[in-house]
Amino acid sequence: TKVLVSGANGYIAMWVVRRLLESGFSVRGTVRNAEKARFLTQTFEKYGDKLEIAMVDDITKEGAFDEAVKGVDAIEHTASPFHYRAKEPHEFFEPAIKGTVGMLNSALKYGQGVKRIVVTSSCAAVFQVKEENQVLSEKDFNYQSQREVDEGERDPQVMYRASKSLAEKAAWDFWKEHKAEVSWDLVVLNPPLVLGPPIHEVDKPENLNTSMFAFYTALVKQDNGWDETAYLKSGGCWVDVRDIAEAHVRSLEREAAGGERIIIAAPTPHYTWQEWVDTANLNRGRPGAWKGITPKITYDTALEQRVLGLNKRTMSETVNDILFDFKARGW
Ligand code: NDP
Repeated sequence: TKVLVSGANGYIAMWVVRRLLESGFSVRGTVRNAEKARFLTQTFEKYGDKLEIAMVDDITKEGAFDEAVKGVDAIEHTASPFHYRAKEPHEFFEPAIKGTVGMLNSALKYGQGVKRIVVTSSCAAVFQVKEENQVLSEKDFNYQSQREVDEGERDPQVMYRASKSLAEKAAWDFWKEHKAEVSWDLVVLNPPLVLGPPIHEVDKPENLNTSMFAFYTALVKQDNGWDETAYLKSGGCWVDVRDIAEAHVRSLEREAAGGERIIIAAPTPHYTWQEWVDTANLNRGRPGAWKGITPKITYDTALEQRVLGLNKRTMSETVNDILFDFKARGW
């Protein structure tokens, strides 16, 4: 079985590729240039021709994935911008929406063998502020961020959330419109903040992907020039990168995943950064503070447990593995 993974050099995607190869799948990964291709082939050298690379330099181009989808049995679409550097919405929206719809359109035209497409969405597409202490589920959809952007909001975090919501909505709309014409069904995965050891190419902490840079800032970085107390008191929900990778694999293997959007969050889903600090026994901030703080938002994982049955990692496993990895890099 051959699986196409878009944005294969990314933080989450590298783990998806690894888990797919370990599970016996063949993988075709898309990257933007030859250097990124080289890192992938080197990392997974032992799998030989079970890994091929397809160059897709611009995912917003019409028909960008037309060649890449030919001959694959399934698709994991992960490529989408996740950073907070954009000034205008289109910097997020174009690649997020056009990338997703473009992939589905290429699969419609040239993916005759495709049986399932998994789209990496986000809890950003679920998230909304309704009331205090809310438990959100797959029934919740974030229309709020897009409204805020329409009203002129330019906070990159809000624009990012809107891009994930719009891309996911576009995927479901495409599916509704074309389901009679295609051989595949759709699965959407919605993780909150993803943490865990990086295996993608990263030379220094400043170049970490967005979620892991947040972790580095809270636990390791020294010269933050910040209000440490406020930062360490803040938090949210999370999941280990290896568990979201496993979710991508099981989403292909489990028939029942078809047609579902599935929240993938850790068993103790809510954290403050102080809790990560304390779990790692680091002396930073105010050890023990804000324990048992009532989270504003948590996510219901009943559907994931029923359909995918993941055995997800705990905070202490994740934090120990990350700090071990950072130490090995001399960070
Ligand atoms: P990374 O930044 O590590 O990976 C993003 C991938 O998407 C890279 O391969 C990147 O290519 C590609 N990409 C981004 N923008 C473009 C573009 N304009 N054109 C072509 N390719 C592009 O991020 P993550 O691994 O963290 O994120 C992967 C997916 O998971 C995204 O869809 C993200 O929204 C989602 N997600 C991530 C969470 C997290 O906490 N990390 C949480 C929830 C969802 P290149 O390297 O060449 O830029």
